[in-house]
Amino acid sequence: MLDKSIILLSLCLISAVMSCGQDENKARYDNYRLVRLTLKTTDHVDLLQELEEESDSYTFYGHALRPDQNLTVLVAAHKIYEMQDIVERNGMDCTVLQPNIQKLIDDEDSTVKSKNTPASEFDWDHYFHLETIFSWMDKQIAENDFVEALHLGSTYEGLPIRGLKISKKSGNTGIFVEAGIHAREWISPAVATYLIDQLIHSEDPEVVDLAENFDWYFVPVLNADGYKYTFEKDRLWRKNTKPYGRCKGVDLNRNFDIHWSGTGSSTKKCTYDFCGSKAFSEPEALAVKLFLDEFANKNKIQTYFSLHSFSQLYMFPFGFTTDRARNYDDLKKIGEKAVEAIKNTHGKIYQTGSSIETIYPNSGDSMDFVYSNYNIPIVYTIELRGPPETPTLFILPAAEIKPTCEEILNSFIAALKEARQLGYYKRDEL
Ligand SMILES: [Zn+2]
Repeated sequence: MLDKSIILLSLCLISAVMSCGQDENKARYDNYRLVRLTLKTTDHVDLLQELEEESDSYTFYGHALRPDQNLTVLVAAHKIYEMQDIVERNGMDCTVLQPNIQKLIDDEDSTVKSKNTPASEFDWDHYFHLETIFSWMDKQIAENDFVEALHLGSTYEGLPIRGLKISKKSGNTGIFVEAGIHAREWISPAVATYLIDQLIHSEDPEVVDLAENFDWYFVPVLNADGYKYTFEKDRLWRKNTKPYGRCKGVDLNRNFDIHWSGTGSSTKKCTYDFCGSKAFSEPEALAVKLFLDEFANKNKIQTYFSLHSFSQLYMFPFGFTTDRARNYDDLKKIGEKAVEAIKNTHGKIYQTGSSIETIYPNSGDSMDFVYSNYNIPIVYTIELRGPPETPTLFILPAAEIKPTCEEILNSFIAALKEARQLGYYKRDEL
């Protein structure tokens, strides 16, 4: 009898231990509330900085920096009263943007195709697991002799960092499109795959022109581990998944060797913008560097786009300083053409400007690194839909995938046309 009890107890313990590691323990955000706080005084700024520092029950999107600032914060369900109390006692303004984030995630599930969905069912009306994106890329490579596979390296977990090159003739200058560096920004890989599809299949003369006269290098899901993690473990994960002490993950877009660990990044391991143990500590960021070291000059890569969400911005260097980029005026003009093309597509308003002017100070990102270290003059980080302070965060409704893709394709057409008119991509300069 005693033996049986011991066996039963042992089985229960084993089961309890095992269940801690199972997929059913996917992160849930039931009744997590998204709020927008309006900071009016320096006391408010200090208070919010302290709150971010000391509690992991509040997820900050951006940091408290100055009075007259709006700050979006996700409040854990058990802290909603505490937040209300803080707001009331300190005379802050607070607007509820979303009462229950889990509902958004649950609603989105119906627009996510299952993991074993074949490439033949790929479209821009749903979100897809990494496995389907990879098999869709394989299909493009197999079916088109001007499309070739790129292997930039392996992620921390050993997944391939896959890319794809489209080249229809020799001598073209190159355009590098980096997507999916932040795991939860699902619209980014979706737009990258749409651009690939259009460059391969579109008969629109303006798209054919881009396909014929540039070589295209796409990395649709740079942070493959993180992307997979958002489908299987935590929808709101941003970083890669490499462990650091009790926490894990590095913000790959703070891990590049350009004012590394400076303004707008954190050296604290558990924060969302943790910059890693050193510049290029992370294999995913390093893979981009090594690829550009080898090919930026040799293959005449002159343009670099990094796709993110959200905020509807077309940003150019720099993020770490208010000093102007050497071709600031050109980048501004090109950005203005791009956002005008976006507006003319579906009426969405994007802003353009240098990164520090438009979003917030940041350092160690791919855009500033690429601009500063290679002879690549046209470099943009695009924050896709939705607008700043969107109540849906990174959970962009699937119905908006296609329109977002269409407006970004049109922005590429307009931006590259303007860059050409400003004298970039001339062969005798290369
Ligand atoms: Zn991002």
